[in-house]
Amino acid sequence: MKYFQVAQGVWGMKLLFVNVYIIANRKSLNKGWILVDSGPQGSAGKIAAMAEAIFGKGTKPAAILLTHGHSDHSGSVKELVRRWNVPVYAHELELPYLTGRSQYPPPDPSVGNGLMSLMSVFFNRKPVDLGNMIRPIAMEQGLAELPEWKVIPTPGHSPGHVSLFFGLNRTLIAGDALATTKAESAVALFGGLKKLSGPPMYMTPDWDAAKASVQTLTDLEPRIIAAGHGPVMRGREVTEAIVELNCDFDEVAIPKSGRYADKPAEANEEGVQYVPPFAISNQFKVAGLVIGLVAGYLLARQINRYDKT
Ligand SMILES: [Zn+2]
Ligand SMILES: [Zn+2]
Repeated sequence: MKYFQVAQGVWGMKLLFVNVYIIANRKSLNKGWILVDSGPQGSAGKIAAMAEAIFGKGTKPAAILLTHGHSDHSGSVKELVRRWNVPVYAHELELPYLTGRSQYPPPDPSVGNGLMSLMSVFFNRKPVDLGNMIRPIAMEQGLAELPEWKVIPTPGHSPGHVSLFFGLNRTLIAGDALATTKAESAVALFGGLKKLSGPPMYMTPDWDAAKASVQTLTDLEPRIIAAGHGPVMRGREVTEAIVELNCDFDEVAIPKSGRYADKPAEANEEGVQYVPPFAISNQFKVAGLVIGLVAGYLLARQINRYDKT
């Protein structure tokens, strides 16, 4: 188990290719800490061990917050709730995918030119059913368990995606509203290559919303960015990189073609309502796709077996 410090009272750990974060509540020590996201299936033991290394044996959080419900962020939440018996929070619009009511729109393997994109069709899309363990975040008030942090709606990558911001040292936990690596490339993702980027292309079905969310995050002027995918970025490199990403968002973050390039998937409190049809574009080379899919399948099989290792 290897974890890293993000800022004072904030730690992160990379599980396979996705990060989880622990935030200590400075305001009231007896309120302890919260866990942000839960990693892929099979991460519960590693997360509990990380928390015990920081806070001592037998520790448990006041709550778990999910930035969104994609399986790489929510895969271990059930097991953690079983272990800790604590509330789980997510944005109201994310609840259909966390209570078994709706499936996320299908990923678009044709965007981003990377193995992770191709592999995305094999990711587990089956909604987690947390039943009455999941609670909607009261967006006006934020989390009672973490009063100093702002919960910011950052939809686009998913309908009810949220980010967290701590104003005192301008720390941003961005989930998948953006990434600090090229999440479409398996090499960059697993290798931890640093590059501030838009949200993972293959899993983002609403680009207008995603763009507005990056504008929101840019306006916060963060000094530390800890995202769902990629290494922590801090200092001068953050200030310049986020302004640049926000400026060039159309060119660098939005795919030129693909399933959601022109039309978003639509969702409401009940879940997904409309998904644009899949159209093969000229940039999408079928032969490459087939080879990529086979490679993707093999890699995905390894990832799905992660919990058994
Ligand atoms: Zn995601
Ligand atoms: Zn993710």
